[in-house]
Amino acid sequence: MTTAPLPASGYVGRFAPTPSGPLHLGSLVAALGSWLDARAAGGRWLLRIEDIDPPRCPPGAVDQIYRQLEAFGLEWDGEIRHQSTRGATYQAALDRLVADRMAYPCGCSRREWQQHGHYPGWCRHGSRHPERAQAWRLRTDKGIQPVCWQDRLFGSQCLDPTVQGDVILKRKDGLWAYQLAVVVDDAEQGITDVVRGFDLLDNTPWQRQLQAALNYPEPRYLHLPLVLGEDGQKLSKQNLATAIPHDGTAARPVLHRALQLLGQAPQAALRQAEVSTQLAHALARWSPEAIVATPGRKPG
Ligand code: GLU
Repeated sequence: MTTAPLPASGYVGRFAPTPSGPLHLGSLVAALGSWLDARAAGGRWLLRIEDIDPPRCPPGAVDQIYRQLEAFGLEWDGEIRHQSTRGATYQAALDRLVADRMAYPCGCSRREWQQHGHYPGWCRHGSRHPERAQAWRLRTDKGIQPVCWQDRLFGSQCLDPTVQGDVILKRKDGLWAYQLAVVVDDAEQGITDVVRGFDLLDNTPWQRQLQAALNYPEPRYLHLPLVLGEDGQKLSKQNLATAIPHDGTAARPVLHRALQLLGQAPQAALRQAEVSTQLAHALARWSPEAIVATPGRKPG
């Protein structure tokens, strides 16, 4: 738990990478957008490592992420939180949801339900396969629906969480799922503003339902356009996204490009300027309204 006092503005933001590999241009845009938004508001900016799925997190990736953020001048406040250490807290939250009948055990396999598109809620009133290992799912039919919120870039959003189905909160193998971990940590860390990639926009309804069920406050949301690979997909290990540099000189033109992708029109003359200079200029002019509200675009 971080002990530093809240800034006068009360703004607390965060960057929450899954350390499945080094940061690429897409993750840099998310980190930079959230850093600029927090710092421009005089707020705090926290770093949280979402390492809940160890087999997906190669050794060394976390250290590489720290070095990359440092090279780009994106300093974080307070202690770094690691989700891998937070199991007891997630379990306490799940216990509350179970007591309120918002979560239930389910032993169905994907093969059994996949023809329905999403899991149809078969175990809501009792596990169909109590003899199997059980996952824990959210009752999307019991919370707020549809879920509506005002996205700071994409405007008014209304999505029905039952359309996507009863999402998993804890996996059969005992690992925690992203939805529960992210909601618990955002609330516990007092996050007021979630700034992240557009790929997570349709996760927001589940997260809003969980926040309401656990009596947590609702943060503000700003989803950012994704950087797409040549295949038109989100940059990832699968389409061999290149790692961003971890030395300050090589970082300079990449930072300039990331600012352009955020619609901030950095001055051409600053392309080779030190990252601290580029960040100071960007901060003084930060204007989230200038971001183009598109789900994603190629870096071009
Ligand atoms: N850990 C997630 C990711 O790397 C991001 C979580 C979030 O920003 O809500 O995609």
